[in-house]
Amino acid sequence: MLYNSTQNNSNVVSSAQAIAQGISEEGGLFVPQSFPQFTLTDIENMLSMSYQDRAKAVFEKYLTDFTADEISDCVTKAYTEEKFESKNPAPLTHVDYNGKELNILELWHGPTCAFKDMALQILPHLLTKSLKKTADGVNAVILVATSGDTGKAALEGFKDVKNTKIIVFYPENGVSAMQKHQMNTQAGENVYVCAIKGNFDDAQTGVKQIFTNPENSEILKKHNMMFSSANSINWGRLLPQIVYYVSAYCDMVNSGKIALGDKINVVVPTGNFGNILAAYYAREMGIPVNKFICASNSNNVLTDFINTGVYDKNRSFYTTISPSMDILVSSNLERLLYKLADNDDTLVSDLMNKLKKDGVYEVNAEIKDRIKSAFYGGFCDEDNTKLTIKNLFDSQKYLCDTHTAVAVAVYDSYVNETGDKTPSVIASTASPYKFSKSVLEALSSDLLPDSEFDMVDMLFDISNTTVPAPIAQLKGLEPRFANVTEKDNMKQAVLTALGID
Ligand SMILES: *Cc1c(COP(=O)(O)O)cnc(C)c1O
Repeated sequence: MLYNSTQNNSNVVSSAQAIAQGISEEGGLFVPQSFPQFTLTDIENMLSMSYQDRAKAVFEKYLTDFTADEISDCVTKAYTEEKFESKNPAPLTHVDYNGKELNILELWHGPTCAFKDMALQILPHLLTKSLKKTADGVNAVILVATSGDTGKAALEGFKDVKNTKIIVFYPENGVSAMQKHQMNTQAGENVYVCAIKGNFDDAQTGVKQIFTNPENSEILKKHNMMFSSANSINWGRLLPQIVYYVSAYCDMVNSGKIALGDKINVVVPTGNFGNILAAYYAREMGIPVNKFICASNSNNVLTDFINTGVYDKNRSFYTTISPSMDILVSSNLERLLYKLADNDDTLVSDLMNKLKKDGVYEVNAEIKDRIKSAFYGGFCDEDNTKLTIKNLFDSQKYLCDTHTAVAVAVYDSYVNETGDKTPSVIASTASPYKFSKSVLEALSSDLLPDSEFDMVDMLFDISNTTVPAPIAQLKGLEPRFANVTEKDNMKQAVLTALGID
């Protein structure tokens, strides 16, 4: 199995290279040249497997330059009961809502309580093995710019992983109190956390500049180090996400909700388009899916794109109560376009250049049709998000977070609009305790306490749900990091963190 760049088909790499490198040199993203197939018999064989064995079955098809032992080692170390609360890290829960059945795929039982853990718990293992194959003996320096969830999940994944160092930058005033506390209390000998005086875009730009300046790579090289990425542009983050859609399909069959071979719908609260793309890739491999329902918040650039074929980021940016979906440039959409354009790298690179230059592009009629036949796009505003949390809790005693609520609301309107009765899997992307304030505001009109942990206690009292251990354990922890730097000084912060200034 080899991988192409979406913007230059002659850039061909192995999976280890794709993972170690992160992004292709001309700026394209690595994608598999073709999609390996699961027949219905293959799927039938997976029904009785554990999540871990299903993961191995998927990985073996893509990581053909890894041995079975190497894959097994990565999977066994990543998806442990200790890290994910139970043997199945991605359990399905069934609840009724407005006369519809929701099959909720809970992806937030990992160490940082967001679905990012599903990929970032295994990425460090994939990456260190990839480095060994492609650049043996070199230490990887992972640079991350985060608006909250990715930073913590990457820190937790890479903490004390041999031959790696991880440095996370976050906007000083752009993350929630809980997210800041999660990052600044991070344990591990190889981790470094730094706030910047600026917003998320400044952090992202700063990291990109450090990455792409050859002078910096030279400095690192002298110290036997190289930069690498834990962003969702890395194939090593996308691949683990395919697994839970394959696994969810098996669990839908096992629970009797569908018969083997029946189609399901998949509903995903979407930001950077990585999670829903993984579901699409699962269908390319043979998992029977009818529709992909792409749910956005008020930043509804994807809803418009699916409906019109025009991608236009020239619009107001809204800061919402589902902050992990506050995004106007969904970077993984590039991979979908490449697939829908039958691997036409010139077409993709033209569209991406238009996006860079004008902030807008339009796809041709054929691609438009292909998108419409596979995807439904919808969005949900703040009031409806809160109302959905309240209705779901009041009627079913099921507590969901603000991102998942967006997906539930959009699915509700999809069914009302289309009458489609296909059994549907809803991706649930975060624990409600990560967004206690907004969830409490949805449930109760009482005055809220000031402290984040008092809000956690209040949510526990109201909902009678379990506080995830990783959040409960943060209470009373002293921060290890209090670094703040000017946005123009990030390079120096990196060198200081690495001890090579
Ligand atoms: C990252 C994130 C999303 C968006 O996922 P994408 O793969 O970027 O589309 C949704 N919900 C939560 C809680 C997230 O952390």
